[in-house]
Amino acid sequence: MKTKNHFDYFVIGAGSGGVRSARIAASFGAKVGIAEYKATGGTCVNVGCVPKKLMTYAADYRGHFEDSKGYGWSIGSDRDFSWETFITRKDKEILRLNGIYDGVLEKAGVTHFKAKARFIAPHILDVGGEEISADKILIATGGKPRQLDIPGGDYALSSDDIFYLKTQPKHIIILGGGYIAVEFAQIFAGLGSKVTLCYRGDLFLKGFDKDIRETLADEMKKSGVELLFDYTPSRIEKTPDGLCLSSKNHDDIKADVILSAIGRVPNTSDLGLDKAGVQIDETGKIMINQNFETSAPHIFALGDVANTHNLTPVAIKEGHILARRLFGGEPDLAMNYNLIPTAVFSQPPIGTVGHTEESAIASGHEIRTFKTRFRAMRHILAERQEFTVMKLIVCAKTDKVLGAHIIGLDAPEILQGFAVALTAGATKADFDNTIGIHPTIAEEFVTMR
Ligand code: FAD
Repeated sequence: MKTKNHFDYFVIGAGSGGVRSARIAASFGAKVGIAEYKATGGTCVNVGCVPKKLMTYAADYRGHFEDSKGYGWSIGSDRDFSWETFITRKDKEILRLNGIYDGVLEKAGVTHFKAKARFIAPHILDVGGEEISADKILIATGGKPRQLDIPGGDYALSSDDIFYLKTQPKHIIILGGGYIAVEFAQIFAGLGSKVTLCYRGDLFLKGFDKDIRETLADEMKKSGVELLFDYTPSRIEKTPDGLCLSSKNHDDIKADVILSAIGRVPNTSDLGLDKAGVQIDETGKIMINQNFETSAPHIFALGDVANTHNLTPVAIKEGHILARRLFGGEPDLAMNYNLIPTAVFSQPPIGTVGHTEESAIASGHEIRTFKTRFRAMRHILAERQEFTVMKLIVCAKTDKVLGAHIIGLDAPEILQGFAVALTAGATKADFDNTIGIHPTIAEEFVTMR
């Protein structure tokens, strides 16, 4: 059934995956609509990668000021950080990016509905009170922070809230052990807050290489972050001077802000999926096949709502591929999920691609491991006791490099190029035959013997 307002393709959610898919589909001549009830750009632009990275830049200045002394600079002692100035400038930049995303959709000829969409039938949506129909529908509604399910859990803020705090916390407790928890710990430590990170496991960043995780834990302790592992929170109480976090196995901790970063869940509630015949699993994620098809053949899903890799570049690529499959005459195009590089913008940051030592062994590879640990040249005059660790995991049979990992200065920037090499199937001999760029940290990847 077609309503007055009918589209070839309708996208729910103008985030990383949705905007790309809508734009590319429209470029092939499809009549495309998109619904978004919050600011355009989704999590990444508004409450994710972008504001987070701006915060890490702000936090990095502390180290730069301190290091500069070793290079002969004297910069005085009155170094005040103004949270208010930073947040105002950050908000202005996000608004600029929202405008760019709006412009991208407009220029592509996509009809943009600034409202919430909800299925009322398999081909029909209620979009802010208006009935809209479409031949094909994409659900790209992303994810949201997991609620902290303990008494007083509502007193904890989520990462969505933290970007809009009115004042900088004096003492912040961060619950969680994923990259978001770790990044915020380093951000607030850099900005001068006291930070306590509490995680239920024995070491954070599960899934990353163990040497890298251990190095980061050491570096975080050096920078003054208090790390409490094997920590189970049990209750949060409001007290006259802030919040008090209790645990079954640790002493009470008092702080003015508690950030809960204990994971994210797919955004599938309130979408009327039952009206469309779209199935979700017990975690709430939309189940899809390798072609992004849900249980309803004309409805597709990708990005965080399908909970695959939960990274912006992955959602963007998925959205692009789906549009080309559906409207670009390339029905066999497929997404390649191998060797997805990723970063943690901690201090020092981490860059990683491919197998860790542990995952390579677990998947039956016979491996050779190359590892180096050193203080970067930049830290010597600065007298900074920070270590860089780099690792290569190589297949003993084929000589192929299966994984590359680095924690140290500029790690994410360094790693991107090596991800290309691994994607192209580089062997350790290829690495050895490559001339280094001297003096850099990156050259260590081609000089490890
Ligand atoms: P989103 O970008 O979340 O977009 C979904 C959109 O759908 C939202 O705008 C939402 O408002 C809208 N929506 C939901 N329901 C409806 C509805 N019913 N009707 C209309 N609109 C709806 N990834 C990286 O690659 N690098 C990073 O450094 C990084 N840092 C991050 C830091 C934080 C703090 C967080 C939370 C995430 C970070 N991510 C990072 C992850 C990244 O942001 C996500 O993987 C990415 O945004 C997912 O894109 P998406 O298109 O699936 O969903």
